Amino acid sequence: MENLEQVTPETLQRVAELRQLVQKASYAYYVLDDPIMEDAVYDQLYHELLDLETRYPELITPDSPTQRVGERPASQFTSVRHNIPLYSLENAFGNEDLAKWQDRWRRVAPDVTEFDYVCELKIDGSSIALTYENGVLVRGATRGDGITGEEITQNVKTIRSIPLRLNLKNPPPLVEVRGEAFLPLASFEAINQEREKAGESLFANPRNAAAGTLRQLDSKIVARRKLDFFAYTLHLPATDTPTRAITEDGQLNLLADAEANLNPEFATTSNPELPAPQSQWDVLQTLQRLGFRVNPEGAPCPSLQAVQDYCDRWSTERTQLPYMTDGVVVKVNSLALQHRLGFTQKFPRWAIALKYPAEEAPTIVERISVNVGRTGAVTPLAEMRPVQLAGTTVSRATLHNRDRIAELDIRVGDTVIIRKAGEIIPEVVRVLYELRPTGTQPFQMPSHCPECGQPLEKPEDEAVTRCINTSCPAILRRSLEHWASRDALDINGLGEKWVVQLVDQGLVQSVADLYDLTTAQLLTLERMGQKSAEKLVQAIAASKQQPWSRVLYGLGIRHVGSVNAQILTDRFPSVEAISQATIADIAAVSGIGDIIAQAVHHWFQTPANQELIQRLQATGLQFVGEAKPTAIDPTSQPLSGKTFVITGTLPNLKRDQAKALIQQAGGKVTDSVSKKTDYLVAGSEAGSKLEKAQTLNVPILSEADLLQLLESNEG
Ligand code: NAD
Repeated sequence: MENLEQVTPETLQRVAELRQLVQKASYAYYVLDDPIMEDAVYDQLYHELLDLETRYPELITPDSPTQRVGERPASQFTSVRHNIPLYSLENAFGNEDLAKWQDRWRRVAPDVTEFDYVCELKIDGSSIALTYENGVLVRGATRGDGITGEEITQNVKTIRSIPLRLNLKNPPPLVEVRGEAFLPLASFEAINQEREKAGESLFANPRNAAAGTLRQLDSKIVARRKLDFFAYTLHLPATDTPTRAITEDGQLNLLADAEANLNPEFATTSNPELPAPQSQWDVLQTLQRLGFRVNPEGAPCPSLQAVQDYCDRWSTERTQLPYMTDGVVVKVNSLALQHRLGFTQKFPRWAIALKYPAEEAPTIVERISVNVGRTGAVTPLAEMRPVQLAGTTVSRATLHNRDRIAELDIRVGDTVIIRKAGEIIPEVVRVLYELRPTGTQPFQMPSHCPECGQPLEKPEDEAVTRCINTSCPAILRRSLEHWASRDALDINGLGEKWVVQLVDQGLVQSVADLYDLTTAQLLTLERMGQKSAEKLVQAIAASKQQPWSRVLYGLGIRHVGSVNAQILTDRFPSVEAISQATIADIAAVSGIGDIIAQAVHHWFQTPANQELIQRLQATGLQFVGEAKPTAIDPTSQPLSGKTFVITGTLPNLKRDQAKALIQQAGGKVTDSVSKKTDYLVAGSEAGSKLEKAQTLNVPILSEADLLQLLESNEG
């Protein structure tokens, strides 16, 4: 009770919330085979709870989800007691955790100086225990809560890679084999397609599909689903003639004294056909000889460094495998050492599961702010408690627009799941409403621009809210930053800190004003020195030599990135030529579609922009270039090499339009989702393609994301 005075009411509440949520998720996952959250999210919530319980042990309750392995099985099947408990595995989330684990187990056996490991891929399936009597498969059982599982022998017998008889002439009376039953990705997809056709709910991932299939009451359905099995554990009996094969309650109890039988010294050695394995690596070889499939990617690793290299290698290569993996299981190789290290209440001390970094993570929203971009688009942002996501610390995520906010009903104080999709900025994917504190308020998009105070507009046909005040300081700042950026006018030294001051002090109200700035004016800026001021004036003057294509790009017309600017200036060698072109003229340029043509035409027809051009022309900037036949190297396009699939109804763009935009940026659009798909663009009523993309971890984009991706690649 010594820590109790330090436990704040917030901690108590958080522990209760976490417990409730983890419990709910475990039940959905283990009993219903229908998870309510992603594994990575579950893992993080679980570990937050575990950390709090480690800090305040007095808060641990016997029913806390941290105190059990799995769940008690649902009741359709006969339950069976395992001869040896099926343990879970401790998790590691990086090399540092692996090193800590090694330190921990070495403290238990400090005299051991020579040791090695075996690394195995952590197959994302369901573990099962198989019992062979005199070489014949007599029982298959699920893990259940680790002590009691479900008898699923009939279903197990349908798995072709599980031998019904061991490959031995003189089998020992009892053998237990454990391993992972899993669904190859192809079978998983086929099952979900069938379920979709039949109007049934889809499996969330191959692991749940495997678990659900093993617990099907009709073995014929199981047989059709093509489960597969990789074996990784072998238990041999202590003697050739076990005396305690049947317990009082009629259960098979082949290896009644589990502790003794885990000791390889007691294993069957008198059978020349089946010498007792001395190491995990021997176990894998022996299993293969007995007729089991063993995962071919397992490897002996002589050191922790070799383990870390193996994990690094498979962090990327695993995506090429025809089955799902969620990490690497690292095992101390020597069985004698394993026996010495033994088990904690839940885990073997001699093994650990390295899990790959999550692409999604839960965190808490501390503030919702809005950002005004160069085009005036107002983007709401969630500012969150910093969280590690795919190797980086993330504290802001886009909420896209007003519609998305309404759809999410996200509020300050909410626990949310954020995701990093491809290279795009993180986004909020879900709100965990169960964890919402009381007294929160729905978020209202501001009606006025937070920068200039002018009313915001939301065009009927767009999801985006915009500030249309052309002299809004935020728009001006972003326009200046864009104008000065490397691919535009490349004005060295005109960074954000000067831009902010130039705008705040009213020295610059348009990009044209940059060309009137004097050294004396620049010296009025805070922390600006004589030398820097002179250099900046020179850099601005030097930008007048930049070619017409960069000037066009610098103007920041929507959808006109540097590649499109090059295409357009090759066809329209002067500002006059492009100003006079009709939409049809512009759209006729190879590589330029209707949407871009409309945006360009509209920009040049706007009087304020015409005025800007006149002022810029007067400074001596280049508004004339050389006409060239359009010959853009397709591999230099921003989306070149990227494959997209479009599904569902997009809010604004027609499918063809979205397709054209992607193609114009060099991307490819295909019809079906596969591992080769880089992005799925999904609108409303997206069906199986969305499910499949989620399973394959293909980043999913909304229409707004797509446009943002195109715009960000333009810059
Ligand atoms: P675990 O999945 O982290 O690790 C243990 C399991 O790894 C074993 O039981 C076995 O099935 C598997 N495994 C695969 N390859 C193996 C190999 N080569 N050697 C040994 N074991 C191997 O632990 P767990 O107790 O099965 O489940 C906990 C995990 O389940 C969590 O980490 C979480 O990801 C998931 N879960 C998710 C939810 C959810 O809501 N999404 C809920 C509960 C649990």
